[in-house]
Amino acid sequence: ARAQTMEITAKPEVTYADIGGIDEQVREVREAVEQPLTQPELFDSVGIEPPAGVLLYGPPGTGKTMLAKAVANETDATFIKMAGSELVRKFIGEGSRLVRDLFEMAREREPAVIFIDEIDAIAARRTESKTSGDAEVQRTMMQLLSEMDGFDERGDIRIIAATNRFDMLDDAILRPGRFDRLIEVPEPDEEGRKQILEIHTRRMNVDDDVDFAALAEATEGFSGAEIESLSTEAGMFAIRSERTNVTHEDFEAALEKIEAGESEIINSAN
Ligand code: ATP
Repeated sequence: ARAQTMEITAKPEVTYADIGGIDEQVREVREAVEQPLTQPELFDSVGIEPPAGVLLYGPPGTGKTMLAKAVANETDATFIKMAGSELVRKFIGEGSRLVRDLFEMAREREPAVIFIDEIDAIAARRTESKTSGDAEVQRTMMQLLSEMDGFDERGDIRIIAATNRFDMLDDAILRPGRFDRLIEVPEPDEEGRKQILEIHTRRMNVDDDVDFAALAEATEGFSGAEIESLSTEAGMFAIRSERTNVTHEDFEAALEKIEAGESEIINSAN
């Protein structure tokens, strides 16, 4: 059952160089997650505790999972991912057992980065959600908090959680010693969108006439995941025209298609 719900990667392929437009967030994650793993003595000499847990929050598809994977990659840590929704179980004790398994797995494979996506599924305020009123969901969250309370901030296990619904979270998980470092991951601005376009077209055969600056301007409101879809869709237009090079018109056609809501490209990169 473990293997079905947990994603365990010895070394994720994502690096910091694959992440565009959120340099400040990369810096903060490195400071809060990477440094305690690679230079614990820094914290010892200064005499402070590193953050216990890091919470990434912001809209979908902006690079939160990528950040967690990249930090695992760059520190040679095992990446262990679980979705909060997977922890919401039907039978009494199942959710908390999965939380115990998660931490046990991390201890067996340390250094490890535990990533809990959709943390709001188990950590919403009672008034905000039907499921959180559920005693079983409460127990699962209590188990998570007790695992976190019992672990050494200077050890070789780091924990990152993510949510799109920061406003829903129960304050209990944000207390010191728990998720006590908050990092907002926003939608990319124009310069960020240009960087992300350049990243996702690195391996594509794009013409010199492709105007990334203009595309960045035209994609206001797009997330990183949507920019990735745009690039793939542009490539599909090239294939349909029996070309192997991707032109600026292909990008414009792709943009039109996406804006009309007709794109079939569903992002499954998670
Ligand atoms: P969710 O909240 O829905 O889980 P997320 O913030 O975790 O989303 P990711 O899974 O990290 O989003 O991103 C999905 C895909 O979108 C990535 O695999 C990547 O291809 C692309 N992407 C998202 N943000 C960025 C970014 N900042 N730079 C480059 N690519 C990005």
